[in-house]
Amino acid sequence: MPVIQAEHVYKVFGKRPERALEPLRRGVSRDELRSQDLVPAVIDASFEVEAGEIFVVMGLSGSGKSTLIRMVNGLLVPTAGDMRVGGEDVARANAKELRRIRRDRVSMVFQHFALLPHRTVGENAAYGLKLQGLNRSDREQRADEALAMVGLEGWGGSMPDELSGGMRQRVGLARALATGTDVMLMDEAFSALDPLIRREMQDQLVELQHRLGKTILFITHDLNEAMRLGDRIAMMRDGRVVQVGTAEQILNNPANDYVAQFVQDVDWTRVLTAASVMEPPVAVLGSLQGPRAAHRLLREHQTSALMVVDRERRLKGVVIEEDVVSALARGQESLDGLVRPVVTVRPDVPVADLFGAAAESPTALAVVEDERLLGVIPRVTLLSALGSAGGPESADNGISTTEEVAR
Ligand code: ADP
Ligand code: MG
Repeated sequence: MPVIQAEHVYKVFGKRPERALEPLRRGVSRDELRSQDLVPAVIDASFEVEAGEIFVVMGLSGSGKSTLIRMVNGLLVPTAGDMRVGGEDVARANAKELRRIRRDRVSMVFQHFALLPHRTVGENAAYGLKLQGLNRSDREQRADEALAMVGLEGWGGSMPDELSGGMRQRVGLARALATGTDVMLMDEAFSALDPLIRREMQDQLVELQHRLGKTILFITHDLNEAMRLGDRIAMMRDGRVVQVGTAEQILNNPANDYVAQFVQDVDWTRVLTAASVMEPPVAVLGSLQGPRAAHRLLREHQTSALMVVDRERRLKGVVIEEDVVSALARGQESLDGLVRPVVTVRPDVPVADLFGAAAESPTALAVVEDERLLGVIPRVTLLSALGSAGGPESADNGISTTEEVAR
């Protein structure tokens, strides 16, 4: 049995919203109804989410995604149609039944974290457990376990404002995990995060899902994110679900011109960007450091090249092992003459455009925004992620090289 079942669900905002149903079924447009102060936010939506699946609802802003997810946990009542969670009729549940469903079956993670600022991280993670009737020590234990699952072990005593944005969203995730519900609803949960942190959270969500087998309904307006996360994707447009399928089905067989336009020419190397495949820059050398420090870092990270950045994390170039070794042999103490140019790419450059650059670059590509180093893309990452492909290069394709540094 599907965990979430939506059947011909409608949600219309405005006075006497039922007025809109018959015209909508006849195909009267949203705009026409808006002139009668009726806002059809969700129109005839049908889909099923299977147990243990990450199901992504993807659509532009205003397409009805949040309205849809709010009907799944009963925050909004459909104007028409059936909404079931675990076989229970959410659309017709009374207040008491809804409380039980939200307590025991469905938890929600929001875009803006929704943490209580004056409570500790641990208390925030435990929020919701009191309703489940757990005593204090059980609550603390469950919260600690959930924090550990999201990589925040030991942070329970801290306050939310001591945490970075990415960490706060982990607390939001921990809160949902602590409740132990099988179903998690996530409304643009990662949209406010920086690209690299967002990538990390996506990877972690996929990993958690594999480990815990949760059923996840994930909402995003980002095609990239939808393709990365979704076992299946529902494409929404103007309140309607226009296609449900795997990323590949949608790419290969778009249901209509709208979807086709959306995923136009999209192959994987076009969907994914430099930001979505980059790795955190760990092998990084400060520009004021010397060959000895460089040598230690090279050994520590088992690599043959280090990115060089100044104090503001602006990328200066790269140093490679053989230059470092000969500088050490000469007894040189500074990096003078050792910093070579490195190929840089903007985070939004599609992966397809990276292959040419990677082939010509002896070291990893540097992903740079406002001169600052965001991440690195080693050639192996690129190849293992995608296989081979090549894209045409234009005059300003977002790829260039750092300035030649005087030797
Ligand atoms: P999304 O999450 O995809 O951006 P929403 O579900 O928030 O879309 O909104 C869909 C449409 O419904 C929008 O046109 C929005 O203005 C409208 N809408 C959402 N909530 C309400 C409400 N409470 N009252 C009136 N209109 C609403
Ligand atoms: Mg929304």
